[in-house]
Amino acid sequence: MPRFKQIPEILKLMKQKELIRNVAIVAHIDHGKTTLMDSLLVEAGLLPPQIAGTARALDYLEEEQKRGITIKTANISLLHETNGQAYVVNLVDTPGHVDFTGKVTRALRAVDGAIVVADAVEEIMAQTETVTRQALEEGVRPVLFINKVDRLFTELKLSGKEIQSKLAQIIGNFNNLVEMYAEPEFKNEWKVASSKGSVAFGSALHRWGFTLDMAEKKGIKFTDIIKVYRKNEHDILAKQLPLYQAILDMVVKKCPSPKEAQKYRIQTIWKGKSDSKIGNAMINCNDEDPTIVYITNVQGDSKDSLIATGRVFCGSVKAKEEIYLVEANQECEVEQVSIYMGAFREVVEEIVAGNIAAFRICNLVRAGETIVDISHKNDALPFEEMRYVSEPVVTVAVEPKNPRELPQLADVLNRLAFEDPNLTVSVDRRTGEYLLSGMGELHLETAMSFLQKYAKGMKVLTSPPSVSYRESVSEGGRVVVAKSANKENTFWMQVEPLEEKQLESVVRAYGENVWRIDEHQNVLLNLEQNEQLEEVRGAIIRGFGWACETGPLCEEALRNIVAKLVHVEISKNPSAREPDQITRAVGRAIFGSFLTAKPVLLEPIYRIEVYTPTEFLGECADILSRRRGKITGSVQKNSFTILSGLIPVAETFGLSVEMRSATSGRAFWQCTFSHWKVMPENLAAAIIREIRNRRGLPSEVLKPKKFVDEA
Ligand code: GDP
Repeated sequence: MPRFKQIPEILKLMKQKELIRNVAIVAHIDHGKTTLMDSLLVEAGLLPPQIAGTARALDYLEEEQKRGITIKTANISLLHETNGQAYVVNLVDTPGHVDFTGKVTRALRAVDGAIVVADAVEEIMAQTETVTRQALEEGVRPVLFINKVDRLFTELKLSGKEIQSKLAQIIGNFNNLVEMYAEPEFKNEWKVASSKGSVAFGSALHRWGFTLDMAEKKGIKFTDIIKVYRKNEHDILAKQLPLYQAILDMVVKKCPSPKEAQKYRIQTIWKGKSDSKIGNAMINCNDEDPTIVYITNVQGDSKDSLIATGRVFCGSVKAKEEIYLVEANQECEVEQVSIYMGAFREVVEEIVAGNIAAFRICNLVRAGETIVDISHKNDALPFEEMRYVSEPVVTVAVEPKNPRELPQLADVLNRLAFEDPNLTVSVDRRTGEYLLSGMGELHLETAMSFLQKYAKGMKVLTSPPSVSYRESVSEGGRVVVAKSANKENTFWMQVEPLEEKQLESVVRAYGENVWRIDEHQNVLLNLEQNEQLEEVRGAIIRGFGWACETGPLCEEALRNIVAKLVHVEISKNPSAREPDQITRAVGRAIFGSFLTAKPVLLEPIYRIEVYTPTEFLGECADILSRRRGKITGSVQKNSFTILSGLIPVAETFGLSVEMRSATSGRAFWQCTFSHWKVMPENLAAAIIREIRNRRGLPSEVLKPKKFVDEA
C-alpha cells in the first residue's frame, strides 16, 4: 500500500504526457530555494506547516542542516490541480553552492522547465546568472519567482511606486539573460513578464505568492498587501494567495510538457541523429518505444547497489527488468523502481516515458550514465558529455587511524566520488595515502563531513588542505637524449611551452602526428618516421603520461607543454624493445628537456565576488589585497557593493574567518576557478621547497643532466 494517498493518481497521470511537468528550482544561495521547496512540501502533506521554513525538510541530511546550505539533490513528484485539471509536477531540487554546479547542470538535463528564484532585495546575483545561463543552454524554459517581497515593505520600507520599479528592474535584468543565452527561436517567447503569467511574486517564508492573473481574479492589489504587513497580519495572505498555487499554476501554464519539450531538446542534449529510430523515439516520448533513461545523480544505498535518479525519455522501466548501461558497457537488473516524495521514496512497479524517478541498480551506474533496454543495446548512444569548467585544486590526505580499516575507507571515498562529479580520489604513489581533491576549502570540508557520516564511527585522520600546483615551461628546451637501460633504444626529445589558445592550431597543424593530448593540455607530438616506431608507440605514450603526471620540480602535474619526439633509434631485435625500459627512457628525456626550458610553477586562481554592505567595502578590499588578490571591478546596488576580483586559491584558506570578523558576518562571497597563473619566481621557489619537503624528496630539484644520456 502506498504511504501517500495521492500515489495511484500520480502514477495514472504519469502516463499522460501532456499532463506532466518536469521542473527544477534554481537560485543564488540564500535567495530562498529551500524555503520555497518546504512550502510546496507542506502542501503535499509531507511536512507539518509549523516546521516549514525552519527545519527545512529537504535538507534532511544532518550535514545540510548544520551548514545551512543544500548539498544533496532531493526531489518530489507532486499532484496539482489547475482549472479543474490534475497534473503531475516532478520537481527537482538542486544544490545551492557554486562549488557544486556540476550537479546543477546534470539536474537541468532531466527537466524541461526551471523556477528561478531571485531575492527581491538582492536582485539577480552572480549565481542566478550562472544557473539561468545553464538552464537556457540546456534548452530548459525558465519562469521567475521574485521572493522575499516582504522585505521590500518591512526592511526597505519602499513606496508602492518604488516597489514597482524595483520589480521591473529585476524582470528586465532577467530578460537580458534570456536575450543573451536562449536559442534564437525562443528568445522572445521565453522572456518573462507579469502580464504573460511567467513571473510570480511573493514570500516563501510567509507562504504567499501570486501571479498577476491570480491577484486580479482574487481582487487583491499590492497596496492591500502592504496594508496587511503594516497591521502585522500577513498570516492571512497564505490563505488568500497560497504560494504553492502561484508557483505550480505558473509551472503548469508556462513550462512545457515532456511531449512538447522533447521535440526540441533532444538535438541539444543527445549525441545521436534525430531521424534515427532511437532519435525518433526520444522525440515522441512514447511508453511503447525503446527505453532510454538519462541518470543525473547517484547516491549510495547498500554495498552492492546504488540509487540512481534519472529521466525516462522514452519507453518504460520496470522492476526486475534487465537493462544495459551504455558507458559502463554492462547489463544489469533494475532491482527497484520508486518515485520521490521529498525525504522518502515510494516503491512502484513501473515508471513510464517523460518522468523523473529513482532506480536501484547495480553499483556500476554513475551520474551521467545512459540506460537502454537490452534489445537496443547496439543502437544506443550516450547523452553528450557534460562540460565541466571547474578543476579540483585543493587536496587533503586522508587515512584511517586504524590501518586495518583502509579497505573500508577506500569504499567510502569511492562512494563520495560517485556521488559528486567534482571530487577526485587518488593515491599518493610515495606514501600510499588516499588523496581527496575538490574545488575549494568549503567543498572539501563538506566532503569530509559526508565521509565521517558514511564511515560510521571510523576514526579518520586528515591533513590540512593543500593547493594543487602545475609545472610548466616558459621557453623551448634543448633537444635531449635518453636511452633504455639496455642501451638498445634511444630517444631525442624536446619540450616547449604551449599556450592555452594554441592547442587547437597545433592539433590542426600536426594531424595524426599528435599522439596524445591529456587533460592538462599537454601534447605529445611524433616528428619521426621509423618502421619499428608503431610497435613501441604504447610504451612511448605511457612514458609521456608518466612524466606529465608527476613533474620534476616537485611532482605536481605538468600543464601546457608540447613534448616532441624528434628522433628515435629502435632496436631491430624485438626482445630488446622492453616496454618498461622505453617508458622510463621517454619520461627521462621529457624531464631532461623540461628542466632546460626555464621551468615555472603555475598556481590556481579563483574569480571572487564579494557582496558586502557598502560600509564594509574598505575592509573587504584590504583583506583581498593583503592576500595577493586583485580587484577588477565594483558595482553598487542599493546599500550593497559587489566587489569582483581574482585571488590565488592558496590565499583563500581561512578567508571566511577573517571576512566574518571584519564585517560582522555581513559580507558574502563566492569563488570559482578562473585560470592557472605563473607564480613569481621567489614565491615559486619557496613553494617547491615546501612541497618537496612534504613529499620527502631531496630539497634541491635535480639537474637536467641527471636525466639524460650521451647520444
Ligand atoms: P537557499 O539557500 O536558496 O535554499 O535559501 P533558504 O531557503 O535557505 O533561505 C535563506 C534565508 O532567507 C533563510 O534565512 C530564510 O528564512 C530566508 N527567507 C527565505 N524566503 C524568505 C522570504 O520570503 N522572506 C524573508 N524575509 N526571508 C526569507
